[in-house]
Amino acid sequence: MIVVSGGDLILPGRVVTEGSLIIDDGRIVAVESRRVDLTGATAVDATDCYVAPGFIDVHVHGLHGHDTLDGAGAVARIAALLPQYGVTAFCPTTVACSPEDLRAVLHQVREARVAPAGGSARVLPAHLESNFINPEYKGAQPADCLRVAAGGDRDGMFSGGDILDVISVCRPDVGIVTLAPELPGGIDLVRSLAGAGHRVSLGHSGSDYETAMAAIDAGARHATHLFNRMSPMTHRAPGLPGALLAREEVAVELICDGHHVHPSMCRVAVAAKGADGVMAITDATSGAGLPPGARARLGGRSIHITEQAAFLEDGTLAGSTLTMDRAFRNIVTNFGGSLVDATLLCSTSPARALGLSGFGVLADGAVADIVVLDRAFRVRRTFINGEETKVS
Ligand SMILES: [Zn+2]
Repeated sequence: MIVVSGGDLILPGRVVTEGSLIIDDGRIVAVESRRVDLTGATAVDATDCYVAPGFIDVHVHGLHGHDTLDGAGAVARIAALLPQYGVTAFCPTTVACSPEDLRAVLHQVREARVAPAGGSARVLPAHLESNFINPEYKGAQPADCLRVAAGGDRDGMFSGGDILDVISVCRPDVGIVTLAPELPGGIDLVRSLAGAGHRVSLGHSGSDYETAMAAIDAGARHATHLFNRMSPMTHRAPGLPGALLAREEVAVELICDGHHVHPSMCRVAVAAKGADGVMAITDATSGAGLPPGARARLGGRSIHITEQAAFLEDGTLAGSTLTMDRAFRNIVTNFGGSLVDATLLCSTSPARALGLSGFGVLADGAVADIVVLDRAFRVRRTFINGEETKVS
């Protein structure tokens, strides 16, 4: 048994100062609003710290020089590195790639899910920032890997039957699939992927409002990095962002680095959807955790790292260098969010979106995935399934 005592507990809807969590057998068995001493239990002093549910990042390409598409062992290496940033579960995320590379990553995801490594973040079904995106909104994604859902070749784009075959063979390990619904066969693709149990996410898309609404009607429930790489929102043409903000059943990702999305637009998103409809993500590339000036890779392409983000050699914005502890801090210190809001964005909303019951909250009976942050929001301790992981 472990007692985490004396910290400010960020519970659903309120913060309890100097409270305690009692953990047994991987679960939170009691939440107390006072300091607790239990003889025989391992005591963890969280005085002058915040205690929150572990962060869940649904959009991670890499970290510390490792990219999900680096080949054997990449997903496990990233999983081992994430707990130092308070992340206790994540969706390994791929850019558009060949069917062979996709199959290899999904095989790694399978292995990590069947036999989780101790001390590593939980590996959730993958997020395919997939081949079915609009070339005009591809950002840093490789154009030669893009596909249309149906109708054969179109403008040099091939039909994506080969990718769909991999998805169907590896189905339990494919969680989120990002796609552009305006491509030929797009709405049917939304319907078939959602019907097969995947979480369809709208993104890298120039969809107008009407097409976006049709995609949501067809089963899309998620949005990939709201505002980034999508049609703009204006008062007469709400575009894809307008549909995503207007429809309650859709949860949106938001890159909370203050660079990809202006802090005021983050506030707009949270005001429109409620904090429980927004998921903070990093969209971290392998450049996350590396110093400015460093070079790294995104799906095999060279990127360089600055203070703000990661960029291709031609200057194209290519994802972030954000980590979830900094996302949490930004929400509180730059975006005007409360501790409760930050916890909703970083832990509770992603758990809810992915249907992970018992995760993303500090509550009796919840899984003991916990992060302890100091007053500057630096990670002091991370627990996964009630076991403390090494935080350097
Ligand atoms: Zn991404």
